[in-house]
Amino acid sequence: AEVEMSHVAEKTTSHLWNAMHRYNPDAQDMMAVSGEGSWFVDADGKKYLDGVSGLWCLNLGYGRQEIADAAAEQMRKLTYFPLTMNHPPAVELAGKISQLLGGDYQTFFSNSGSEANETAFKIVRQYHNQTGNQGKYKFISRYRAYHGSTLGALSATAQANRRVKYDPGAPGFLHVYPPYSYRSIFGGDPEESDLKAAQMLEEMINWEGEETVAAFIMEPFISGGGVIIPFPKYIQRVAEICKKHNVLLIMDEVVSGYGRTGKMFGFMHAEGVQPDIVTMAKGLTSGYLPLGATAVKSEIYDVFKQTGKDNHFRHVSTYGGHPAACAVALKNIEIIEKENIVERVHELGKAKLGKLHALMDHENVGEVRQVGFLLGLEMVTDKQSKVPLDEAKMGEIVGKCKEKGLIIGKNGDTVPGQNNVLIIAPPLTSTEADLNFVVETVESVIRSI
Ligand code: PMP
Repeated sequence: AEVEMSHVAEKTTSHLWNAMHRYNPDAQDMMAVSGEGSWFVDADGKKYLDGVSGLWCLNLGYGRQEIADAAAEQMRKLTYFPLTMNHPPAVELAGKISQLLGGDYQTFFSNSGSEANETAFKIVRQYHNQTGNQGKYKFISRYRAYHGSTLGALSATAQANRRVKYDPGAPGFLHVYPPYSYRSIFGGDPEESDLKAAQMLEEMINWEGEETVAAFIMEPFISGGGVIIPFPKYIQRVAEICKKHNVLLIMDEVVSGYGRTGKMFGFMHAEGVQPDIVTMAKGLTSGYLPLGATAVKSEIYDVFKQTGKDNHFRHVSTYGGHPAACAVALKNIEIIEKENIVERVHELGKAKLGKLHALMDHENVGEVRQVGFLLGLEMVTDKQSKVPLDEAKMGEIVGKCKEKGLIIGKNGDTVPGQNNVLIIAPPLTSTEADLNFVVETVESVIRSI
């Protein structure tokens, strides 16, 4: 049976073009065939703990029957219906999202994080057009940010290694320095450094001319660009600056939404901040089905209700807000609430994954950055020089963890092409034993290099 399995793996991968593909004829690509909880099984029957939750999306872990049932039931009842009209799961979910965001939001559904951001950009431009600010078209994001793979979202993305082969991006996308206190160019203590990074945004808006700047897009915690975690004051300051200059604040909660950081949404770590637009995907369905969402404050949506103006939002997605995906999201949120996942992440993040801070005594660990179940370990050749640990060593760490049955990731692009940040983001339902396994494995591997 095992021989047969390998045969299947070979056949299937031979015509499949993998994501983030880098051709290597010797690579042994992973083929997963089943999964339960935080663990999946490969074609040879070996078990792995998924320490990055797929692509940080599988928040409730593999194999929850009640979520699969919710999808099947909805497909039998109403297979498909376009959101040019209504269906009950979409209406109910939009209401639930508004409640969870703690404001009054109107939600447009799509299929992915990239599309959720593209939708936000189009809403923002039309909003300014309809409120007498036709000149406001520019979007500002931070270097190190990842906002998606499609050309608009990629233009907001500001990591050279993800862009250079596909540039130029769309016009009107600008980038500002991130709140990256570990390698701060500003000096001062880390919090001051973050606030100076916020100040740069204001300088940029002034220099560009506020009448040209439409919106600022940010993740509360940069994930794809090396897990960069600012002080809450940075987020608060940025929100104030945006408000002052009539620059809409788009919060990309694709990774940080739905409990990953120990709050329902990442922006909630910064008291008093209420983004104009919140984009989400991944944790919205825990990866059980594709779904993206763009939640917009009602004051902005009101502009699209004005009569006597061309208020037609000419935007549609065939599968966006698919009934089965919305039913899955509703079930996902029900479980998050019933099982107190957000508090769980807050507590176990500290009590269990937080033990990885002990690695700060290791010469190759420059910084351990953590919020809830989202961790980045910035690896360096030595603490003094902070030179990023080389690709070969990074690969060795990830490879040794894999041998021991733990999947972790690496990203960063700290220096273009240098992914020297180890990524750890296990499912939010990981048992205490699972979390101990993650900590022990990462610790023993790092101490062995
Ligand atoms: N925003 C952020 C912050 C992301 O991390 C990602 C995906 N990793 C996206 C947007 C794009 O999401 P998708 O891959 O679903 O298009």
